[in-house]
Amino acid sequence: MGKITGFMEFERQDESYLAPESRLKNYKEFVLKLTDEQAKVQGARCMDCGIPFCNSGCPVNNIIPDWNDLVYRQHYRQALDVLHQTNNFPEFTGRICPAPCESACTLGINSDAVGIKSIEHKIIDEGWEHGWVKPQPADHRTGKKVAVIGSGPAGLAAAQQLARAGHDVTVFEKSDRAGGLLRYGIPDFKLEKFHIDRRIEQMEAEGVKFRLSTLVGKDFPASVNNWAKETIFPEDLEKEFDAVVIAGGAEQPRDLPVPGRELKGVHFAMDFLPQQNKINAGDKVKDQIKATGKHVVVIGGGDTGSDCVGTSNRHGATAITQFELMPQPPEQENKPLVWPYWPTKLRTSSSHEEGCERDWAVATKRLEGKGGKVEKLVACRVEWKDGKMVEVPNSEFDVKADLVLLAMGFVSPVQQVLEAFGVEKDGRGNARAATEGTNAYVTSKPGIFAAGDIRRGQSLVVWAIREGRQCARAVDEYLMGHSVLPR
Ligand SMILES: Cc1cc2nc3c(=O)[nH]c(=O)nc-3n(C[C@H](O)[C@H](O)[C@H](O)COP(=O)(O)OP(=O)(O)OC[C@H]3O[C@@H](n4cnc5c(N)ncnc54)[C@H](O)[C@@H]3O)c2cc1C
Ligand code: SF4
Repeated sequence: MGKITGFMEFERQDESYLAPESRLKNYKEFVLKLTDEQAKVQGARCMDCGIPFCNSGCPVNNIIPDWNDLVYRQHYRQALDVLHQTNNFPEFTGRICPAPCESACTLGINSDAVGIKSIEHKIIDEGWEHGWVKPQPADHRTGKKVAVIGSGPAGLAAAQQLARAGHDVTVFEKSDRAGGLLRYGIPDFKLEKFHIDRRIEQMEAEGVKFRLSTLVGKDFPASVNNWAKETIFPEDLEKEFDAVVIAGGAEQPRDLPVPGRELKGVHFAMDFLPQQNKINAGDKVKDQIKATGKHVVVIGGGDTGSDCVGTSNRHGATAITQFELMPQPPEQENKPLVWPYWPTKLRTSSSHEEGCERDWAVATKRLEGKGGKVEKLVACRVEWKDGKMVEVPNSEFDVKADLVLLAMGFVSPVQQVLEAFGVEKDGRGNARAATEGTNAYVTSKPGIFAAGDIRRGQSLVVWAIREGRQCARAVDEYLMGHSVLPR
């Protein structure tokens, strides 16, 4: 513990942002990382609890008190080593993780939690700036071959761990660039894509091969982006590789079955967001869906919806409204009731702050338009009675809408991927696999493993990294009979 009285002396200081008027001009990140002095002070706030709840609140079990202390002492290189012990990609989580560790921080019970995420961000950025992040190739080869399907955070974490254990790893990705939703989905202003590129370079130097634009399986639904130029059948992969990890994410979007859904100008968020990622990467996109000069309505109050708001503002939308079906949560959580768990409370993202109207407990009844183009969204207010959602009488209203973005989450993985492999599904259509015991991460077919959103349903980057790492250990044990990879 760096400074015994630090938690009493110093206030929490969040990272600052560039002002909206300057950040809305481009798609670059706008969060300003802590200075050395600020990071030292923030590290000093950690009480080094005997039972650090932050550590168990963090899905990858980051060893947070140790690196808080090292940052207080300004030993960034050692802090980076501790951080990398539990997290392959802290530059992703240090930017876009909602930080469940902070909800679990003991200091948060009667004060503001330690700014753990801002400290993580600082450590990994120092690491890259000083050239401390280097490839770590295995010192021996096992001769075993592993295929990983999907290059999102789960697939990347699994592939890196397996390569470091000496296996020959090939990642198959249907998109033209690696990264999963980190690349195509999450806007560049939250995570610039050079962060992914340099991790891919590191992994290639560690021996991982990437086969991009390659779909494993067949008959992909039209509602899911598929830019693949080549198709590989699962049975061919199974013959060539000693083990397969399916990490294809949960890509089947939730649709809105209301009259008018077919009108032009109504799109899934995941048709809209990846197009802007591609443009930012220098690609040309034919007939890009643009919010410029439009009245945009975003349906869905989560992360994806907020990303649509931020992107629409950068396009220059005239007005943006975001509707959420659930009631507005309280501004402050009831800490004694919820600590150390993730609380339900009103969350206002930087995208919301850039400008948008938000409304809760609203259900869309229909979409109306002229000449096949959407012009209006008709909605009503809803309330919950006996656990059922009911329409509030006489509450119908409408809003002008030239662009409607459906951001209501994802129902499941694409079923065709799991069916092509012939693995069992759970009740929600995810790949059935446990996370504990001798059968951890293995599907109903021996040698075929599953990790990330495809196994747990739509979730977070940090959970995907955890699952990728734990799955890698399970695969290593399956191939070698034992493993030194961390669990
Ligand atoms: C718009 C948006 C914003 C988000 N924002 C955040 C955030 O701020 N913070 C956060 O923690 N989480 C966020 N999430 C959630 C997070 O991105 C996911 O939980 C995480 O990426 C899941 O990782 P994954 O590796 O399991 O799957 P994914 O990232 O979905 O990657 C799966 C990959 O597999 C590929 N693939 C699928 N099937 C095949 C196949 N048959 N053959 C070849 N390739 C295949 C896909 O093309 C994709 O690249 C967001 C999600 C979305 C959609
Ligand atoms: S719970 Fe908070 S105060 Fe305690 S060790 Fe973790 S970060 Fe430090």
